[in-house]
Amino acid sequence: MASPSGTTGRVSRIQRACIGDGPGYRTTVFLQGCPLRCPWCHNPDYRPVGSRVSRNPRRCIGCGRCVEPASDCLRGKPRRDGCGVCVAECPAAAITLLGAEMNVEAVMRVVRRDMPYYAGTGGGMTLSGGEPLMQMDFVLALLDAARREGIASAIETSCALPPMEFARVVGRADLYLCDIKASRAAYPTLIGANPDVVLSNIAALDKAGCDIVIRVPCVAGVNFDDGLAAFVAETAALEHVRGVDLLPYHDMGRGKAAMAGLAESDWSAMRAPTTGELEAFRRRAVPGRS
Ligand code: SF4
Ligand code: SF4
Repeated sequence: MASPSGTTGRVSRIQRACIGDGPGYRTTVFLQGCPLRCPWCHNPDYRPVGSRVSRNPRRCIGCGRCVEPASDCLRGKPRRDGCGVCVAECPAAAITLLGAEMNVEAVMRVVRRDMPYYAGTGGGMTLSGGEPLMQMDFVLALLDAARREGIASAIETSCALPPMEFARVVGRADLYLCDIKASRAAYPTLIGANPDVVLSNIAALDKAGCDIVIRVPCVAGVNFDDGLAAFVAETAALEHVRGVDLLPYHDMGRGKAAMAGLAESDWSAMRAPTTGELEAFRRRAVPGRS
């Protein structure tokens, strides 16, 4: 059996100097895998688990070097083994290999680099995704390593896991960034999750005294309605909810799925709410915090 520091997981990317994934200066570790299907997902290429190539047509200069030996990649059918040969071949940095197996120590080597910045800003390590809790053992090993080294930790999660599984992470991180993504009625069809499960998991964090921030993607034309405000209000009233972040829609995920050979969302109806719409929403969803 692997030691905790040798526990391995699938990592999409590690991004240093992040602002907005928790307080202060963060290093965000994006883990692969998510069973949900938020139409506005900004990392749709991180949902499948396993090596996969992403090819950016805007960068491609058509040199043809990747025709052999990775010709499947050019036809948009990434090789299952994700060998990465085409990444090295490409002179235009148009091809990226998504996902790598890393152990805890390899991740922590990156996270540790910015220790001085965490101390001065109240920052630390954030585990994101995908849905990071799909790799629960790896997440717990990373959280334990961070705690041993005095690095504050946060988790960004959909809270859509079965409660028995979710219970394993309760109390293990310093901050939980919990999404409320739609009205109760829309959750099953729009997101593919049960809103009662989401609420039950957030309530479990609250009962355990964990610090929680509710995060709300605000996508006018898709999820931004009174039902969403009502569901946010249910969670915002919990005792240990420290804040509610309204996250206006952006289209940074647009095109990523196609580049990775996956089906694209229909982005046509999505837009960012106006400032006035956001203010009105906040008054309905979090009246005590306006
Ligand atoms: S190697 Fe890169 S630049 Fe050349 S054809 Fe392939 S993707 Fe395009
Ligand atoms: S939970 Fe996150 S990673 Fe999963 S589909 Fe939704 S936005 Fe994307």
